[in-house]
Amino acid sequence: MDVQVGDLLTMKKPHPCGSKQWKVLRTGMDFKLKCTGCGHEVMLPRVKAEKNIRVIEREGKPVC
Ligand SMILES: [Zn+2]
Repeated sequence: MDVQVGDLLTMKKPHPCGSKQWKVLRTGMDFKLKCTGCGHEVMLPRVKAEKNIRVIEREGKPVC
């Protein structure tokens, strides 16, 4: 799955704050993601994050 820094991810499961969109701050073995609703930052193993991704957006356009 092609995820790059700066991408906007729409997840299947919403964050407790209600937002489903996360900004990608770092990729690699782990993703660092920032919730666009409350600004919360998390580190997630790549495999776990990828399972939860519904849409990847880059520059406002969906890439998958
Ligand atoms: Zn949140």
